[in-house]
Amino acid sequence: MEELISKLRSVLSEGAVLEGEEAAQKAQGWTLMGVPRAVLLPGSTDQVSQVLRLCQRAKVAVVPWGGKTGLVEGTFADKAIALSLERMNRVIDVDKLGATATVEAGCPLQVLCERVEEDGLFFPLDLGARGSATIGGNISTNAGGNRVLRFGMMRDMVLGLEVVLADGTIVTSLNHLIKNNTGYDLKQLFIGSEGTLGVVTRAVLRLRPLPSSQNVAMVAVGEFSALPRLLRRVEKDLAGTLSAFEVMWEDFYNLVTTPPAQGRAPVQKGYPYYVLIESLGGEAGTDGERFRAILEAALEDGDIVDAAIAKSQDECKRIWALRDDVGQVIQLAPIFTFDVSLPIRCMEDYVASVRSALQGQWPKMRMMVFGHMGDGNLHLIVSVGEQGPETRHQVELTVYQPLAACGGSISAEHGIGLQKRDYLPLSRSREEIVLMARMKQMLDPENILNPGKIIPL
Ligand code: ZN
Repeated sequence: MEELISKLRSVLSEGAVLEGEEAAQKAQGWTLMGVPRAVLLPGSTDQVSQVLRLCQRAKVAVVPWGGKTGLVEGTFADKAIALSLERMNRVIDVDKLGATATVEAGCPLQVLCERVEEDGLFFPLDLGARGSATIGGNISTNAGGNRVLRFGMMRDMVLGLEVVLADGTIVTSLNHLIKNNTGYDLKQLFIGSEGTLGVVTRAVLRLRPLPSSQNVAMVAVGEFSALPRLLRRVEKDLAGTLSAFEVMWEDFYNLVTTPPAQGRAPVQKGYPYYVLIESLGGEAGTDGERFRAILEAALEDGDIVDAAIAKSQDECKRIWALRDDVGQVIQLAPIFTFDVSLPIRCMEDYVASVRSALQGQWPKMRMMVFGHMGDGNLHLIVSVGEQGPETRHQVELTVYQPLAACGGSISAEHGIGLQKRDYLPLSRSREEIVLMARMKQMLDPENILNPGKIIPL
């Protein structure tokens, strides 16, 4: 290892190899990170390539790091070499006419969004960690977030990639075309593979025109069956401009609108469901009226029982801040967090049966539910008052097992990492997992890239 570290020092710039206390300090993320043997801060794709070549030869594990805001221990790097892309953070080019951006992997999501706005363009990926999460991390985890129902997941926004393979080979595939059926779509292999098949160093992203209107409402809904009805109705009436349909079960809404939370309830408390509805459009003059008329009609028909429509940018922000204030769940600590996907028709029964099963075992259990209902994705926060590995396992089984019967997924958008690895067979077949293992073996024969993540042992 000492020999490897000194070789790494010789290929990287001054101050780009951190060890000891400096490395430990960098290992601060949203989940368990371990203590890496060293943290590397390469400044170019060539340097990433040299690092991987040396590490493969030495058979030493390398864990790629973006913003470290993942939630499944995908960046756990104990005793490994952590490869942080934070110095490769430039927006290289914005093509205004082609509506594409070329960026380095370490560029924070929010930096890119603000940069393209200067050119009247829009990068639609939006998630709570936008200030720290990086484009490379968003790509390797196939990030989802708040606007998937309109713009898709990260996978749908990537046109081209540059990737470094485990042996140091640089595959530059910086395609700018929306249509390009020239053989295997190699970039898809690396999107969502959590740094286990290659290290993303640059990307070409698809941009959209910057919307000229934003309308946001918080509405209350009296019963579950009205939620899918409301979703389909606003989707149809807003004719392509619906950009978020974020549902909060009552106790989550109470949590984020009651002190110590900063937010206040825009619509009265006491209803079972609340929905944040957002429309992004192109007609600033008339979009607001249309939005209001559509919600008024839903109110008349009883699909909505109460509503607060934002009247200014500031009010839009305040309503979104409630949905973003997920950090309040820390009041329930210790907690277990989940990110599941399932058909809307199964949601009500699923949530009720998980709740009653957990209550059966832990009568004082608390569970908060919210999520991106427009794309079938729910987040469950469970607090049973204890935390040990056995408890965790029991809670996980209770949440995950009923998903198989309704064709659900144990991970909608957070990925697998270490945390969900052992449950992968609940969502993927044996043949699928064997094929994943074969692809891993082909691209990373020495198993140095983020080893132990995703694929069950
Ligand atoms: Zn989410």
